[in-house]
Amino acid sequence: MSAPIVRRTAFGWPAVPNAGITQTNLGIIVHYDGGKGMGPGLTGKTHSHCVDYWKNTRKTHMLSNGWNDIGYAFGICPHGEIFEGRGFNRQQAAEEPTPGKLQNGNSRYVSCTFMLGVSEKPTTPQLKAFAVFRKDMMGRGVSSLIHGHRDFTSTDCPGDTLYTMVRNGSLAKAPQEDDMPLSGSDGDFIYNAVWGKDKIAAPAQASDVKTNPTWQPQSYLKDTNAWARKIYNQNVQLAAAMTAQQTTINALVKVVADQTKAFDSTQFLLKLREEMSEALQNLNVHIDVDEESPTP
Ligand SMILES: [Zn+2]
Ligand SMILES: [Zn+2]
Repeated sequence: MSAPIVRRTAFGWPAVPNAGITQTNLGIIVHYDGGKGMGPGLTGKTHSHCVDYWKNTRKTHMLSNGWNDIGYAFGICPHGEIFEGRGFNRQQAAEEPTPGKLQNGNSRYVSCTFMLGVSEKPTTPQLKAFAVFRKDMMGRGVSSLIHGHRDFTSTDCPGDTLYTMVRNGSLAKAPQEDDMPLSGSDGDFIYNAVWGKDKIAAPAQASDVKTNPTWQPQSYLKDTNAWARKIYNQNVQLAAAMTAQQTTINALVKVVADQTKAFDSTQFLLKLREEMSEALQNLNVHIDVDEESPTP
């Protein structure tokens, strides 16, 4: 099963990183963002902030750290989106080799950062996405082992919350059935089952109601849309007609006033406006009634 991963090109990056090909099949290394003790603060923000964060992380890693690309192979945001970094089976720069610790982090393991700061806890969508991601990696031959960055380098990363989850096995849970992304054919199946089912009573005044008494939801949606457009166009035409009418009336009033000195044009116009607004109110009621039983 493959996880839905947002590819590098979606961030405007070259499809392939400037990093050697290697075999990252010994397990997954979990990271977070403890930078300056604050982190990205993405939880509770809109997802576009995560995209900006991922782009900025690559910039910082290249400009400040002098790395060839973003350091991580992958990242998961608090909304549960999985972002490609260097990608699968690429040399990484996320774990500085340290004597006395586990070795070959950058070349033999897959690094995955949770886009969280020191005081932030992983979100449910993030944990679900990690389970799907891990299953994907295992499908590509990666071992089921999960480590924390601190197993390779002297660092607090991935923070105490995530590291506890690494140690107690709660990050190693298999994804639940409903966490699985749908394959294309599953999606089509569900669409057809829901939108293509002949179950809704046809509108009473539909021209084919006798021969076709039940409609598919997708037919109903199309019909409703066609009616909404039709009503909108009618309203536009109505407004134009009323403007033309008003212009004609104004001209008429002027002619009458010019002819008849005694004629009180101001009073006449006021009375006329009253009549028109009353007529308009009736018109609105009329349209509402019509909308309830549209006939194709
Ligand atoms: Zn780290
Ligand atoms: Zn996000």
